[in-house]
Amino acid sequence: MSPNPKLFAFLLALSTSAFVIGCYRRFSLVALGRPNYRLDSPGTRFSRMLRLAFGQERVLDRTFGANHFVIFWSFIILAVANAEFLVSGLLPQASLAMLPTPIQHTLLFVFDLVSLLALFGVLFAFARRLFFPEPSLTSDYVKARSPEALLILSLIVVLMLAYFGLHAARIALGSEPASVLPASAFIAANLLAPLGLDAATLASWSWWLHALALLSFLAYLPQSKHMHILTAIPNCFLGDLNRPNTQPREEFARGKHFGVGRVDEFTWKDLFDSFSCTECGRCQETCPAAGTGKSLNPRGVIHAIKTNLLANGAALRTGDTPRLPLIEAAGETKPGEGSTGEAAIWACTTCGACMSVCPVLIEHMPKIVKMRRHLVQMKASFPEELTTFFENIEARSNPWGIAPTERTKWHGTLQVRPFEEGRTEYLLYVGCAGAFDARQKQVTVALATILDAAGVSWGTLGKDERCCGDSLRRLGNEYVFDRTARDNVNLLAERGVKKIVTQCPHCFSTLKNDYRQYGLELEVVHHSELIAALMASGQLELKQRVADLGRVLFHDSCYLGRHNDIYAAPRQVLIAATGDSPAEFVRNAKRSFCCGAGGGRMWQEEQEGERINLNRVREALRQEPDTICVSCPYCLTMMEDGLKDLQGDSVKVKDLAEVVAEGLRA
Ligand code: SF4
Ligand code: SF4
Ligand code: SF4
Repeated sequence: MSPNPKLFAFLLALSTSAFVIGCYRRFSLVALGRPNYRLDSPGTRFSRMLRLAFGQERVLDRTFGANHFVIFWSFIILAVANAEFLVSGLLPQASLAMLPTPIQHTLLFVFDLVSLLALFGVLFAFARRLFFPEPSLTSDYVKARSPEALLILSLIVVLMLAYFGLHAARIALGSEPASVLPASAFIAANLLAPLGLDAATLASWSWWLHALALLSFLAYLPQSKHMHILTAIPNCFLGDLNRPNTQPREEFARGKHFGVGRVDEFTWKDLFDSFSCTECGRCQETCPAAGTGKSLNPRGVIHAIKTNLLANGAALRTGDTPRLPLIEAAGETKPGEGSTGEAAIWACTTCGACMSVCPVLIEHMPKIVKMRRHLVQMKASFPEELTTFFENIEARSNPWGIAPTERTKWHGTLQVRPFEEGRTEYLLYVGCAGAFDARQKQVTVALATILDAAGVSWGTLGKDERCCGDSLRRLGNEYVFDRTARDNVNLLAERGVKKIVTQCPHCFSTLKNDYRQYGLELEVVHHSELIAALMASGQLELKQRVADLGRVLFHDSCYLGRHNDIYAAPRQVLIAATGDSPAEFVRNAKRSFCCGAGGGRMWQEEQEGERINLNRVREALRQEPDTICVSCPYCLTMMEDGLKDLQGDSVKVKDLAEVVAEGLRA
């Protein structure tokens, strides 16, 4: 039964070489990417890695997450058992038997039970894939990968069966005590004798089966989709610590390539991401574009980057032109083929849902925006509707190209004061929608009324206010965004602004997060936060409870919630104003579903699949609301448009500020 150390050493050397060569091939491809520093705040990174990788925080969020948790921890624990197996294969005397008996027995007991759990976990994973797969496991993209996934699962099953065969035989031979190996002892008692198996032969066969399965797994790992076993944990450590809704600044220099049009123009971390994907499908399931039949599939984008890198790696290393394009103009590529279609790139709403569920912290949206930057800045290739949008912003700093003098038209009869340094506390950053959009102007008036009622000192920049540049940045027009941001930062500094309140989550997030890259560190608050604080402190008192809204359903805006973690404030305001908690969408808070307008989608036609706003409004109507409450100008437009199209005219859409302003009426 003893292994042949020489033969085993030869096989181990082969398998280790294949492992090292495979790792070298893939990691040297990662090194082709651009630099990106990811070692700041190591303590924060480390504790996040413990939570996400070892605590499996996001994995456990899902129904079958517990099964993955069991397999993951079994792997970690059995790594010790497998290390001992490899060492004792080379040096038979170096085994657990060298340890003091109590430690040896404890380890054998743990390994035995964990092997049983692992076997059940893998069999369950098998059954789930074959007999009751979720939609994300049955897409064309995953089907194409499933033989490989099943092969790996089969190898693990063989490994476990060989483990039990080996230990059951050792029990029968009297070399291991049955009392500390309950699962193996059960097999020894119930299978070996009844089947008439010779223990010595079984031990020898099981040992070699175990060895071959383990060595094959080792050799195959870096070539397979299970490479994430090596990369997922470090990827959790290396994930971006900043808000995912900001993108890095671009350096503008003559002759430089902007954005990403070739796979090696991504950063090394973007490329490392592509080798860390577990192909779990969470991003695809939650993506509003994928969920409404668009060609965008965030998992497909990540997989295409990996495929592209593998296909083009040799050419890139030698400085040749890569044969497979990263971006496919025709947009007819199938997910996973190594290119991403332009239609998919423009379909992203930058809602961040994909990143918020990814268990290994893959950053999908920044990669999509980098490809948009290439299309806009290097190829001038973007949806036709955006030509007018970009021209309007460049000429008049608003999406509609309206004269800046009209920015103050929302005032009506209100006394609006200009912001004055030292005399005014808050700058009310009205935003383009708040200043020009007929419906949103009502929200601005409501907010101004609230601020006055609470005695807040506020003022505006009047006709000098400019677009914050949110859509420009998300659409990849970084050059114009950069100019807009620098002008705005200078203007805000010149005017001595210290605190800003906005009604638009997109302005809020851009001023708060993106402008920080330009050295602007102001206190920026969304109106929901300020109103909640004013109500809680008693500075804002309503004259009446708002009772005529019927059943109120609250829609979380992605740029307020997911991108800035503001979930409680709008709900607190609604409870204070109406006396009741709002009804919730099935997909709410962190899991909220975008209205379809973010990421510059507001300014584009939606030609593929179902309209995202209709999907969201259908979800709303199932809750039979009388009022849908929002906290974002884009959401307001998308909800109202969706209700019109679905004959839901009896349902009202109100911004949070409008609800509160109603309570101020005598
Ligand atoms: S950011 Fe939103 S729309 Fe874009 S890929 Fe992710 S989930 Fe899909
Ligand atoms: S990118 Fe993340 S969420 Fe999407 S399939 Fe890969 S691991 Fe899962
Ligand atoms: S428009 Fe509203 S729902 Fe859509 S991305 Fe922006 S905040 Fe999210």
